[in-house]
Amino acid sequence: MSAFMGLTFRQLQLRMKEEGLNPVHAPVVFRSLHRKAARMTNHGDRVDEWLARHPGVAPEVVRDIASGDQVTRKFLLRLEDGREVETVLMGYEGRYTACVSSQVGCAMGCVFCATGKMGFLRHLTAGEMVAQVHFLNEHLAANEKSPLRNVVMMGMGEPLHNFGPVMAALDVITDARGVGIAPTRVSISTVGHIPGIQKLAALKRKYSLAVSLHGASDEERGALIPVNKRWPIRQLLEACRSYSEVTGQKVLISWTLIAGANDSDDHATRLAELLRGMKVQVNLIPLNPTEDFEGRPPSDERTLEFQRILRESGGLPVTIRQRRGIDVGAGCGQLAG
Ligand code: SF4
Repeated sequence: MSAFMGLTFRQLQLRMKEEGLNPVHAPVVFRSLHRKAARMTNHGDRVDEWLARHPGVAPEVVRDIASGDQVTRKFLLRLEDGREVETVLMGYEGRYTACVSSQVGCAMGCVFCATGKMGFLRHLTAGEMVAQVHFLNEHLAANEKSPLRNVVMMGMGEPLHNFGPVMAALDVITDARGVGIAPTRVSISTVGHIPGIQKLAALKRKYSLAVSLHGASDEERGALIPVNKRWPIRQLLEACRSYSEVTGQKVLISWTLIAGANDSDDHATRLAELLRGMKVQVNLIPLNPTEDFEGRPPSDERTLEFQRILRESGGLPVTIRQRRGIDVGAGCGQLAG
């Protein structure tokens, strides 16, 4: 995967200048790198020669599994150093979403997550993240489907732990001169990395922010998310409040429902209390099973009751995430290569 894939437009201009090419050609080069159709055209000898020296190398597909309903497809991709990451394509006709990985493994160690069990191996470069998006768009084009509409940074890894490269990759992906995904169609999911939330707020991008809470007290949350010790609930919610103030946006609060652990009426009432007055939307995610974690999802009735309490006692907007790709291990917390 070419490192050039991960250069923002501005970085590309600088790089071209350094390599003796007039940056006036940067729009054409950027389009060539990020739009397959533009790659075919003749840009003039110097630009074509430069592009030939910096080819985009497609990642090698190690495994490709479609879910039973064909709505979700999980690809295991091999990187240049032999490490492997998973990337997931979700959706129906015309509304395809890429779930992009930002790291090989993850340092956060959430107990219910297969990626967390791998430990942290390395950050992905911006180019390796952009390459996942290109790969999925090319897969869609080869199957005569419409291109990606949404990108969610919810694959392997904690994206805000790899802040600079993730932001560069998103700058590239949302640049209208290239892939052109609308910034409002990008979501970043974090376990609650407070410094990253603060840095993201300062950038004032239009991306959605999803924060995993999963527990209504530090003790309960810490049992599922070890980094709660470092970034406890009160401070985390304070960071979410500031994020909303600075950006004017709602924060999506993710709550993985685990039967018997955090799905009772009492949990729902305490969660509603914690979020009172905040500009949030809650997304309930019935647990996706993984091999090393014994927890189970609650029944549909329990999930609906949890939702009802949050709505009625907290006045909160609450959605329940559709469970997709669970049969092929492509759901949240199931990616592990
Ligand atoms: S849930 Fe996210 S942050 Fe937690 S271990 Fe898994 S990949 Fe890392």
